[in-house]
Amino acid sequence: MRYALASGQRVEAYAGGRGICRRCNGEVIAKCGTHRVSHWAHRGIRDCDSWAEKETDWHRAWKNNFPAECQEFIQHDEKSGERHIADVRFPHGLVIEFQHSHLKPLERAARERFYGNMVWVVDGTRLQRDYPRFYRRKDDLRRGYFLLTFPDECFPAMWLDSSVPVIFDFRGVDEGQPPDEFRDTLWCLLPGRVEGSAVVVGMSREQFVKVAPSRPQLLPVQEILTFFRELRAADEREARQFAGMPGGRGPRRRYARF
Ligand SMILES: [Zn+2]
Repeated sequence: MRYALASGQRVEAYAGGRGICRRCNGEVIAKCGTHRVSHWAHRGIRDCDSWAEKETDWHRAWKNNFPAECQEFIQHDEKSGERHIADVRFPHGLVIEFQHSHLKPLERAARERFYGNMVWVVDGTRLQRDYPRFYRRKDDLRRGYFLLTFPDECFPAMWLDSSVPVIFDFRGVDEGQPPDEFRDTLWCLLPGRVEGSAVVVGMSREQFVKVAPSRPQLLPVQEILTFFRELRAADEREARQFAGMPGGRGPRRRYARF
């Protein structure tokens, strides 16, 4: 973890530092080596939070996009007594979890239930096959909202059944990559389907970083799904009505810009 309590203050790890875990009140010691980002570690145990993930440069770079006071928010469920450390939580209540490693479906679902109003940001560079598979569908991708007919041919299987928006970051932290608009764009897969198609939102990193702290909910998912269902139904009615007739079609309605 990035922050612990030392002399009553929330502080980052520093060489030789000792502190108190904000979640379990256990003792933590600073790890400031060259292999990993500086962090606090519990004595003896891996981490008191079974959901904690080893932090990478990728995690830190993402967290740094948001105010320090929103990072590592301890969320407490009064009913169950569960406490977990959210990577980022804004005062409005939206939680962002940055996920680098594989998650078992049950754990993914448990986290989604616990945080409720959350979005995932997934490191799309961890597995080499993920980006090439996504890029093969490049002709179907665009900025803003769109329907994607075969989401399973684009995105990793473990994220397809998520109940919250999942944002894929195929750029990662490798600064040496040449510019590539498909890697630079963030791709947000929405939960729910429209006759089997997924709603996807292509957005810039700047848009996401600016918008996420400003809204109670990143995207009105149900409203967006309803919009696309109605749009599809209207398309089908129109296709039946004008079947066999020459001539073009009217302009398509668009969902509001992200
Ligand atoms: Zn702890």
